[in-house]
Amino acid sequence: MNIVLLGPPGAGKGTQAKMLVEKYGIPQISTGDILRANLKAQTELGLQAKKFMDAGELVPDEVVIGIIDNRLKEDDCQKGYMLDGFPRTVAQAEALDKILSGRGSGIDDVISIEVPNEELLARLTGRRTCRECGQGYHVVFDPPQKEGVCDKCGGELYQRDDDNEATVTSRLEVYTKQTQPLIDYYKGKELLRPINGQGKIQEIFDRIVNVLG
Ligand SMILES: [Zn+2]
Repeated sequence: MNIVLLGPPGAGKGTQAKMLVEKYGIPQISTGDILRANLKAQTELGLQAKKFMDAGELVPDEVVIGIIDNRLKEDDCQKGYMLDGFPRTVAQAEALDKILSGRGSGIDDVISIEVPNEELLARLTGRRTCRECGQGYHVVFDPPQKEGVCDKCGGELYQRDDDNEATVTSRLEVYTKQTQPLIDYYKGKELLRPINGQGKIQEIFDRIVNVLG
């Protein structure tokens, strides 16, 4: 079971990823995590990546792909894995296909959690954070007992700059622009499994499990 998980900010991808890992016992592989692990272990690829990061540059595809390649060879990936945050571009997806087909393997399903933009906007702009303890709330889905006040410490709740409408709108636009070519690519390969990301967490999870079989 080799899965790619896609979903815009606010779609609940992280929650579903955790549930999938638990149900299927496959590792969740995110570029950030393995990059950090390679840096810590000072692997050759980790050291290469570090050069770019120290220079404030993006780590180039060939380094990222090398790191992913090594990770997918590890024992815990032999019965499957879930890629999260990789591939980000069609070029990366093509490179991944090439690596996997060289081993007689491939991606089986691309789960794309879909939520209309208006709902994502409502979800993301409704977030509130405690100024004192950092506890997160949501004005609709997880409101505090008293509006604007933290249940835990009585601190003042505020909306982070990341969560204001202009920032959220632009994040969603960037996501769509970056991801649409990837979605088209996997659709062309008949691997795309669109999942309705509206409703209860468990309902969405059941839809994914249904598709994975
Ligand atoms: Zn607080």
